[in-house]
Amino acid sequence: RTLNEGQNEYIQAVEEFLPTIAAYLEQNPQVEANNLLDLLLEPERIIQFRVPWQDDQGKWQVNRGYRVQYNSAIGPYKGGLRFHPTVNLSIMKFLAFEQIFKNSLTGLPIGGGKGGSDFDPKGKSDAEIMRFCQSFMTELQKYIGADTDVPAGDIGVGHREIGYLYGQYKRLNQFSAGVLTGKPVDMWGSLARTEATGYGLVYFVKHLLADRGDSFAGKKVVISGSGNVAIYAIQKAQALGATVLACSDSSGYIYDPEGLDLAIIKDLKEVKRARISSYVDERPNATFFEGQSIWSIATKYDIALPCATQNEINAELAKTMIANGVFLIAEGANMPSDLAAIELYREQGILFGPAKAANAGGVAVSALEMSQNSQRLPWTFEEVDAKLDAIMKNIYENCRDTADKYGAAGDLVTGANIAGFAKVANNMLAQGLV
Ligand code: NDP
Repeated sequence: RTLNEGQNEYIQAVEEFLPTIAAYLEQNPQVEANNLLDLLLEPERIIQFRVPWQDDQGKWQVNRGYRVQYNSAIGPYKGGLRFHPTVNLSIMKFLAFEQIFKNSLTGLPIGGGKGGSDFDPKGKSDAEIMRFCQSFMTELQKYIGADTDVPAGDIGVGHREIGYLYGQYKRLNQFSAGVLTGKPVDMWGSLARTEATGYGLVYFVKHLLADRGDSFAGKKVVISGSGNVAIYAIQKAQALGATVLACSDSSGYIYDPEGLDLAIIKDLKEVKRARISSYVDERPNATFFEGQSIWSIATKYDIALPCATQNEINAELAKTMIANGVFLIAEGANMPSDLAAIELYREQGILFGPAKAANAGGVAVSALEMSQNSQRLPWTFEEVDAKLDAIMKNIYENCRDTADKYGAAGDLVTGANIAGFAKVANNMLAQGLV
């Protein structure tokens, strides 16, 4: 559609999606008869706004804010806020589009949305971050609410930012704990939300492996990124007996032949907000590869978990990964593999867990946070963690069984897309296509 010209990431996400639901469309002619796909591809609402804020020198700065309220067929819009200089409408729309089906797969009543800003939190003081968040929420609060649209964190938006955003929402409105998720635990947040996306990803892979009589024990794993998703994926993979050899940030990657020391990474990233290169100061046997993609690493390993950002793996890097012995790739980040890379995984018979399914644990626990906020009762870590594991098992089995049913056995991309889409389509048709 010409309306989307130049929105490359969005077009990519749609092009990945549409061919995989062909078998479903054939068996369900009511979808095309009602022109449902055209409706689906048009977001219900897009909000774009100016975010003015003052830096520490008293100079006014301006950024652009977005909220894409893409589809509310199965519940209030739900999806994170991303603060990163690369944010634009295309990225917001691709993320919101994928979020619709991911949220549907969780089995919980949440629609799809996404938001954020081209603001770069890197190198900003706490006070600058606070002023930016307050200005961002001053505008965003007009459009969100616990029963209408519930944002959470994403790249560049962690507890600190959610705290400031929540504080500003509260100043401008009545108390409403459920308007944001990913809140700090003593601020109406849920235990295990911080860990949820990374843990959920590893649970998804655990169930995929278990289906083949296999497990994480003794496996060598490489995980990109060193943010929220990567850190807790590393933690859970290690807990299940894997050795995680490498991780990264946007400056390069570290390789530790003895296995990563997660305590050092957590201290660097969660406390000091430092670069990953500092890891080698404390681990002399480790090496830092400046400016290089982690997927160009030359070492043998079994499982790759991309947890940084979109399009980090192209066909060339995918070839290197497969040559290194990788037999399973599961996506913690959103759309980290480009279309050519996914095609190669298919050709080479790589076990592949697509983002929509494999990283749904974060939003699933966000929905559990909404439940706890409504109940005014916090659940224990163990309770939330057990529910997360059960949800990821259910998502995996649903994708597997749906792929089988539509003649694409073993293709979890097809399984995830059809299973996620069917529920949304049924709801849209039942509601008169709204
Ligand atoms: P964080 O901001 O906590 O961490 C992001 C990590 O990825 C950092 O290590 C960052 O490095 C790296 N990174 C970001 N952009 C780039 C880039 N352009 N090139 C190389 N490295 C990059 O974000 P999250 O861990 O929360 O998110 C990571 C991915 O997971 C995203 O795709 C997000 O959409 C997805 N996701 C997150 C969920 C969540 O609950 N947080 C839920 C589901 C999906 P640096 O610090 O140098 O920028």
